[in-house]
Amino acid sequence: MEHSPLRRRTVPIVNPLRNLILAAAGSDALRRLVATAPVSRDVVRRFVAGETTAQAVAVAKDLVDSGLTVTLDHLGEDTTDRSDAEASVQAYLELLDGLKSAGLTARVEVSLKLSALGQAFDERLGLDNAARICAAAEQAGTTVTLDMEDHTTTDSTLRVLDELRRSWPTTGGVLQSYLRRTREDARALSGAGSRIRLCKGAYAEPESVAFGTTHGVDLSYVQCADELLAGEGYPMFATHDPRLIEIISEQVKTHKRAQGSYEFQMLHGIRPDEQHRLAALGETVRVYLPYGSEWYGYLMRRMAERPANAALFLRALTSRS
Ligand SMILES: Cc1cc2nc3c(=O)[nH]c(=O)nc-3n(C[C@H](O)[C@H](O)[C@H](O)COP(=O)(O)OP(=O)(O)OC[C@H]3O[C@@H](n4cnc5c(N)ncnc54)[C@H](O)[C@@H]3O)c2cc1C
Repeated sequence: MEHSPLRRRTVPIVNPLRNLILAAAGSDALRRLVATAPVSRDVVRRFVAGETTAQAVAVAKDLVDSGLTVTLDHLGEDTTDRSDAEASVQAYLELLDGLKSAGLTARVEVSLKLSALGQAFDERLGLDNAARICAAAEQAGTTVTLDMEDHTTTDSTLRVLDELRRSWPTTGGVLQSYLRRTREDARALSGAGSRIRLCKGAYAEPESVAFGTTHGVDLSYVQCADELLAGEGYPMFATHDPRLIEIISEQVKTHKRAQGSYEFQMLHGIRPDEQHRLAALGETVRVYLPYGSEWYGYLMRRMAERPANAALFLRALTSRS
């Protein structure tokens, strides 16, 4: 199973296509069809940089040239052994080399999932592997953000973040507004220099730990944003939600936050016009850019999230294949 943090919706939004598409995500035949159909490759490119480091660096450069900043995510499987974890580390080391050679590290950082580095079976290994990537990122002149995965990993990921920040204080973390605990975490992590991405959260979580309604998640997002903006850290607002973007734009004024003391983040291929609109207003906008051979599951989840994307995709497939 591909391990992107974006794999599951938590707020049960009823979308009849969702289950069908997620079922299709497991189909090898469909994967082959998607990978070879020319138009569908364009659809893939809308969301994913490509399979190789060179493609990832090239797309990141285009985004930077257009006025955006980037965080690159190497897509991979949930890692269950040391050799897979090592392969993930090597992919990031190669990527950081490529970004440095291309002169992109002032505007491009990397996002990583501890589950890809061994956290699930050995937290210490996950920490050591993440530390190797942080050291390489520092050498290259950039930063690392640790994606947040499902709630069973939250404590472990925050422990690892705390440990990494002792040597690399700019290491970023992620908080998910759907979790009931997050407002408190946001307050605790709002200190000077603390880079924290705030997102709604992408996993199917039980009501015991997560708000069960869209309203609850959104309200929590606004409250957590307020905690982060009231502190001295560097909040990174990851959302495509126009209402939240509007509210955050008001909150930054209330907190007298200067542009550049926070940023907006969105996924590659989602609301690109909005990304450029915000950048044109002087905001820092960072695009989350996934790449790697495990793109298929990631793409299917983007389709499942939004019927309009699925319709675009299915039209592309049926008209050319
Ligand atoms: C940069 C980034 C990093 C992330 N990192 C993590 C992470 O580490 N861990 C984690 O659990 N989750 C992560 N997520 C995923 C996140 O938690 C949400 O699942 C995802 O972003 C969808 O939530 P949303 O805030 O965009 O709003 P949604 O509730 O999905 O959408 C709200 C509104 O936004 C607009 N919108 C949404 N999608 C589209 C679209 N495709 N086209 C046009 N309009 C659209 C629509 O108006 C929609 O009604 C990340 C998301 C981003 C953007």
